[in-house]
Amino acid sequence: METVQGIPRHCHCGSNTIVLTSKTRQNPGRRFFRCETSSSQGHLFKWVDEANSEELSLLKDKQVRLDQDLLQLKQELLEMKKDIGEILQILECIRSKV
Ligand SMILES: [Zn+2]
Repeated sequence: METVQGIPRHCHCGSNTIVLTSKTRQNPGRRFFRCETSSSQGHLFKWVDEANSEELSLLKDKQVRLDQDLLQLKQELLEMKKDIGEILQILECIRSKV
């Protein structure tokens, strides 16, 4: 079954997720996401610390993409300002000849 990266909002069955705390000897006190409807196999189970780590990684990737987009937009804005300046100069020339 496909595992969703990051913090899971829903189980594959469409139900919401809930956070519970493990009481097993292997993972005492460790929190986990689980399907709100069922704890049987095939429904969501994911450790909160692992989900948070994935979420942080996803957010870092997103931040890099946003920074790249912002840089590109700034460059495009500079080019548009330059184009507007040239258009205004042309208009000024036309006006002075009329
Ligand atoms: Zn489910």
